[in-house]
Amino acid sequence: MNFQEIRELDGEYLARTYARYPVALVGGKNATLTDSEGKEYIDFGAGIAVNIFGANDEEWKAAVIEQLGKIQHVSNYYYAEPQVKLARLLCERTGAKRVFFSNSGGEANECALKAARKYSFMKYGAGRSRIVSLKDSFHGRTLFTLTATGQEEFHKYFGPFVPDVSYAEANIADVKRAAGEDTCAVIIECVQGESGVTALDQGFVKELAAWCAESDVLLICDEVQCGNGRCGTLYAYEQYGITPDIVTTAKGLAGGLPIGACLFFKRAENAFSAGDHGSTFGGNPVSCAAAINVISRITKDFLLEVQGKAAYLRAKLKNLDGVRAVTGLGMMIGLDLDKDAKQVAAACLEHGLLVLTAHKRLRLVPPLTITKTEMDEGLSILREVLR
Ligand SMILES: *Cc1c(COP(=O)(O)O)cnc(C)c1O
Repeated sequence: MNFQEIRELDGEYLARTYARYPVALVGGKNATLTDSEGKEYIDFGAGIAVNIFGANDEEWKAAVIEQLGKIQHVSNYYYAEPQVKLARLLCERTGAKRVFFSNSGGEANECALKAARKYSFMKYGAGRSRIVSLKDSFHGRTLFTLTATGQEEFHKYFGPFVPDVSYAEANIADVKRAAGEDTCAVIIECVQGESGVTALDQGFVKELAAWCAESDVLLICDEVQCGNGRCGTLYAYEQYGITPDIVTTAKGLAGGLPIGACLFFKRAENAFSAGDHGSTFGGNPVSCAAAINVISRITKDFLLEVQGKAAYLRAKLKNLDGVRAVTGLGMMIGLDLDKDAKQVAAACLEHGLLVLTAHKRLRLVPPLTITKTEMDEGLSILREVLR
């Protein structure tokens, strides 16, 4: 199909949930993608921080195909080797004790929020069900995670919402105010993604972790976007010097196949028992095989390379005319611009560069395997567009 045909069918048959850029991506290699008309793009978006190894990575593909040659799905009524291997890998690399697998970030967070309520119920009985989340957070589209998303614009049509969710500014005094006496968990993104690529303050996160430990309130780190090597460490919280009680992740975890994971650390390890939670597709063997490939390749050396690329990109971006500030952490980059970010993103697309926006900022989350040549090409397109 050519682009016009694809666009017409999309308009006719798909629910109107997405305002799409006028392009259909059909293939590529690493951070260089091709559309249905044969035009090439440098990819600074990675499908929203998903395609960690870019497009068409040989090793990743081989891992997926190998699993496809065995079996594509097994029910969670049975044991599955890819699940246990991935769970062990995640626990060994993070210090977590147990993992629940889902299919998306929203579901991983839904799991974390339910687990926090159960943890508290088992220990203190009913009435300690409050979740505190931060203003400008994003945690997903299920009703509970949407409720926990601290942005009014997402709360327009879908009420009534889940009770006992409060919102706080990113400072300890306001978290305590929002929490009161009936809170079981606080959920944060160390680097807020959807609301503008904003790294939380180190001091605040440390104080929060200490207060949570003191008050037996579970600290949930939503690493759906900022995790899996994106910020230069396997998970972003590592750079904050804290150990959360629950970590959720998804986007980049399987390098482009659907997966979500909820990691339980010591305090929360036994929150769930049999029958408490489940997912038909959760821990799908093909997704798990892909994620094993991803996590085992995010080594110390790989992370050093990511840090180097991030430093390079950030230095170059800072010096571009029209860039006021560079935000975020590692390869999760926000840009404050003189011009309107949405217009800049559209112009970049025309000139062969894929970028994202997040509120008023431009958001750059390239594949972590992006080459220097690809970065330079992308930077020169952005320079031209901003001029
Ligand atoms: C994308 C995102 C989610 C939701 O993930 P889905 O896979 O779209 O459900 C949740 N939290 C954060 C921080 C995200 O960036």
